[in-house]
Amino acid sequence: MDFALTDEQELMMDSVRELLRKELPPERISALDEAHEFPMDTWKKLGDLGFLGLPVPAEYGGAGASILDIVLFSEVLSYGMSGLSAAFQRSACYGGVVIGQYGTEEQKKRILPPLVSGDQMVAIALTEPDSGSDAASLSTRAESRDGGFVINGQKVYTSGATQADWLIVAVRTDPDAPAREGLSTLIVPVDAPGITIRPMSKLGNWTIPTCEVFFDDVEVGPEALLGGLNEAWTTTLTHGLDAERLVIGAHCTGSAQRCVDIAVEYAGQREQFGRKIGKFQMIRQKLADMDVQVQAGRLITYHAAWKLDAGLNARKEASSAKLLTSETWNKVAYDSMQVLGGIGYMMESELQRQYRDARLYTIGGGTSEIQRLIISHELVG
Ligand SMILES: Cc1cc2nc3c(=O)[nH]c(=O)nc-3n(C[C@H](O)[C@H](O)[C@H](O)COP(=O)(O)OP(=O)(O)OC[C@H]3O[C@@H](n4cnc5c(N)ncnc54)[C@H](O)[C@@H]3O)c2cc1C
Repeated sequence: MDFALTDEQELMMDSVRELLRKELPPERISALDEAHEFPMDTWKKLGDLGFLGLPVPAEYGGAGASILDIVLFSEVLSYGMSGLSAAFQRSACYGGVVIGQYGTEEQKKRILPPLVSGDQMVAIALTEPDSGSDAASLSTRAESRDGGFVINGQKVYTSGATQADWLIVAVRTDPDAPAREGLSTLIVPVDAPGITIRPMSKLGNWTIPTCEVFFDDVEVGPEALLGGLNEAWTTTLTHGLDAERLVIGAHCTGSAQRCVDIAVEYAGQREQFGRKIGKFQMIRQKLADMDVQVQAGRLITYHAAWKLDAGLNARKEASSAKLLTSETWNKVAYDSMQVLGGIGYMMESELQRQYRDARLYTIGGGTSEIQRLIISHELVG
């Protein structure tokens, strides 16, 4: 068993760290967060350097990288700034991979190069007011008309909709078929007539808007169909879910590591009762426990990536990685704030943001309960 990363992987991680250190010092990240603004300039630089194309096939300008490479990149990206990693997951990983796998030649040529360069983004519109975990029960309707489709319905929690150029929309195309057999995905320009986007107010992850999207007689041509008609459940909607969970695992690991590093640094500086607080046994125990949890999450994530790259089934490991790392990020955000005491609770501290941002990750991308269902299904059927 070899745990060493290759020289190329180390180099890639170092160059991303260096770029983010220069581009996004803590004060800039705080200012962006407060202004609810995404660092589009840094995003574009990541595109220019080829990082946004890691999950995209080489013939469309991407790098066709391994899952482990994508995981490593997501981890350092999230360590630098969680919002960038969230956008990478959605636009490059989910969007890039699904279009790369199921898009027509025309869709790939039109949409993938600008995703890779960072000039355009996609948002994923799956969840609806009445269908969340039970995604197959969605009711947004796309009726066939003149070879194309007319869409009516509503989506909620669509991340990045106001930043995106394209929406990948899950729709019901056959209302008479069983729930999973009547679904399709359409790729729709965000400015199509009949679409209304309304940002929602939320606890954290402020650099990525989360939106309601309303479809009112939105007409698209046949070129909007992404993948086969009525085949979305077994293709575009579930393809790559294991890889997606791993990318979330890497994201949570990177941010959790940042919380640990902040707590360790503070414990080595802050003095009370004439000693560094890092000398107190109860603080030392917290630091040790945090470190162990983050390491465990990282290892399970890397192991699952290795399995997927080897062509092995990693369903249980991918869900375990998502479950463990998202719960860990929440736990270490809580505990690292405890190590900092009052200053960790102040808005000037990064930890208040980590605490708020972490909370999403046991909910979005499949809740912890759903991950436990998947894991138990793999165990006992
Ligand atoms: C900030 C944010 C961003 C998001 N971004 C996107 C996005 O870009 N695109 C998109 O399509 N969606 C997005 N989502 C939606 C997200 O994926 C859903 O919120 C999530 O899947 C849960 O669905 P729900 O909120 O409807 O909760 P529900 O499914 O109603 O679940 C409520 C509770 O019941 C539990 N539960 C449900 N079913 C079971 C079961 N069978 N067994 C045990 N417990 C169960 C859940 O775990 C949860 O605790 C986002 C959500 C948020 C909050």
